Amino acid sequence: MKLYELTIHAAQDLLKRREISAVDLTRSVLERIREMDSRIGAYITVAETSALAQAEAADRAISEGGGGMLTGIPLAVKDLICTRGLRTTCASRILENFVPPYDAGVIERLHAEGAVVVGKANMDEFAMGSSNENSALGVTRNPWDLSRIPGGSSGGSAAAVAADMCLGALGSDTGGSIRQPASHCGVVGLKPTYGRVSRYGLVAFASSLDQIGPLAKDVTDCAAMLSAIAGYDRRDSTAVPKPVPDYGAALRADIKGLRIGLPREYYGASGLSPEVESVIQKAVGVLEEMGARCMEISLPHAPYVVAVYYLIAPSEASSNLARYDGVKYGFRDAGREGLLEMYRSTRSKGFGPEVQRRIILGTYALSAGYYDAYYGKASQVRTLIGQDFREAFESCDVIVSPVAPTPAFRIGENVDDPLTMYLSDIFTLSANLAGIPGLSVPCGFSGGGLPIGLQIMGNHFDEETLLRVGYAFEQATDVHLRKPALDAPDGMDRQGDPE
Ligand code: GLN
Repeated sequence: MKLYELTIHAAQDLLKRREISAVDLTRSVLERIREMDSRIGAYITVAETSALAQAEAADRAISEGGGGMLTGIPLAVKDLICTRGLRTTCASRILENFVPPYDAGVIERLHAEGAVVVGKANMDEFAMGSSNENSALGVTRNPWDLSRIPGGSSGGSAAAVAADMCLGALGSDTGGSIRQPASHCGVVGLKPTYGRVSRYGLVAFASSLDQIGPLAKDVTDCAAMLSAIAGYDRRDSTAVPKPVPDYGAALRADIKGLRIGLPREYYGASGLSPEVESVIQKAVGVLEEMGARCMEISLPHAPYVVAVYYLIAPSEASSNLARYDGVKYGFRDAGREGLLEMYRSTRSKGFGPEVQRRIILGTYALSAGYYDAYYGKASQVRTLIGQDFREAFESCDVIVSPVAPTPAFRIGENVDDPLTMYLSDIFTLSANLAGIPGLSVPCGFSGGGLPIGLQIMGNHFDEETLLRVGYAFEQATDVHLRKPALDAPDGMDRQGDPE
C-alpha cells in the first residue's frame, strides 16, 4: 500500500509507532498530486514548501512525545477558507490573487492539532453551484469517471479525497456542498450543526446557512476531523459555546432500537432516479437488519425548500458580495472613468455568470416593495421547515434519505439549465435551512459504477448519532473500501465512455 492511500487513523498509528514520518507521508501525497491532478483538477494551489515545513514540525513534535489530534496528517482545504500567506481565491477572478493576512478559526485549530495543509481545493465560484462547473479557475473531474462532474460546490475537496490526493479535506456546506460532492465521489462528508464549527475566516456566501465540515475516506476519519475543528470561537457570533464531545468515542456499530424516519415526501419524489432510490432502499434494509426500526414520517413543507433556499441564499449573497468592489482588495478594472464605472466594470468582469445571477436574484428579493413578498415570506416558511424537523425528531432519532436525486451527471450536461441544477439540491437544502447536521456515507453504486451516498440527518448537535449510524453501516458493508480505477491501465478509457 502506498502512503497516500492511508486513512487518517491508519496513518496516525504508523506515525505514533514511528514506522513512517510525517515528511514521508506528505511527500507521498505531494507526489500523488503531481501525478494525478492534471487529470482531475482538484487543486487550485498546492502549498508544497509550507506543507513540508509543517510536516517537519510534526515529526519534531512526535519525536518529543507531543503532537495533537491530527499531527502530520496531510489535508486539503476548500479555497474559500482563509489561510494566512496562502492564496484564497474562492475560485473567482475577483479574488484570484487574494492572499489573506490571517488564518480562519478552523485553520488555527488544524495547525494547533499538528495537521499539514497540502493545498487549496477547487470549488464552484463563491460556493455557488452543484457541479464545480462554476469555478473560474479550471475544471474538476470525478475520479470515478473523468467525463463527469465531482459535484459541488466542494468538488475539489471531494475529488482530492477520492483520488488519494490528501487524507482528508475541509469543505463548506450552504445547501449541500459537502454532502452532494461526497456522495458523487464515494467519500464521507459531514455538514455539522449550524454553530458547531467556527465560520471565522470562511468567506461568506449565505451567513445563516454556511457551515464548514470534513470530507474523509471513512466515518472514523470524519469523526477525528470533526473533533479537531469543532468548538466555540468568540469571533463568530453564531458559534455555540457547547463542549465538544470525543466524536471517535461515539463510533459503536450498535444501532439496535434506533428509530429511523423516512420522509414520505422524499421517496418517490419526482426527479429521484429509480436507480438511486433502489440503492437507498437496500441501504435502509442493511440498517434494519442491524436492529434499527424504520418508520414513515412527514416533512410537510419539503416541497417549498428549493424556493425558500433560492430566495434566502441569494439575498444573503447579494449583501455579502457587495464588499468586492475593486477598492480595498481583489481584482480592480483600473483605468475606468469615475468610481461608479470602476465598480460596474470590476464586478462585471470579476464575477462569473452564476454569481451575477445570484446577486441579481438576491438584490431583487430584498428590494423595497418586494422584500415582504419574497425574502420575508421565505423566512416565514423557513421557520415552518425547522418546525417540521422538530416534530419529526419527537418520534425518530435520525432521518435517512438520498443525498442527490441522480448519480453524478456529465460535465456540460446541465450548464445551460440552472433550474435543473438547483433541483439537484432538493434533499440537502432543508438541513441548512433548519440548521441541523447531515452526513453522507457511500452506500452503493449505480449500474454504471458511479458512487451513491446515503444521507443521515439528526437533531441539533447530535453529530454523534449520525456518525454512529454511518459507522455501523460501514461495518456492515464494504462499499467505502472500493476505489476509483485511476491507476488501472484502462483508467482513462472511462473518459467519455457512453452509458
Ligand atoms: N448547490 C447549492 C447552491 O448552489 C448549494 C451550494 C453550497 O452548499 N455551497 O447554492
